[in-house]
Amino acid sequence: MLLIFGLRSKDTIIGSRLGRCEVCGATAAQTLVRRTTRFSLFFIPLFPVRAARHFVTCTNCGRARGAAREELVAA
Ligand SMILES: [Zn+2]
Repeated sequence: MLLIFGLRSKDTIIGSRLGRCEVCGATAAQTLVRRTTRFSLFFIPLFPVRAARHFVTCTNCGRARGAAREELVAA
C-alpha cells in the first residue's frame, strides 16, 4: 500500500500598511502574512500541526521578519 503524506505551508496576506522597513530603511508597504502548516495526506491538507506564525514582509526589499504582537492587533 502506498501512502503519500507530508507537510504543506500556506501563506495568507492579512493586511498591509505604509511603514518604514527595519532592513532597508525605505518607506514602503509592509505586508502582514500568516503562515499555517498542515499535515497532508494524498496532497489534501487535513489538520494544522503547529500554531500559525506571522511575518511582516517589505514590498521594497522583500525581506521578512517576525511580527510583533502590536502589529497583529493593528492589522
Ligand atoms: Zn525593506
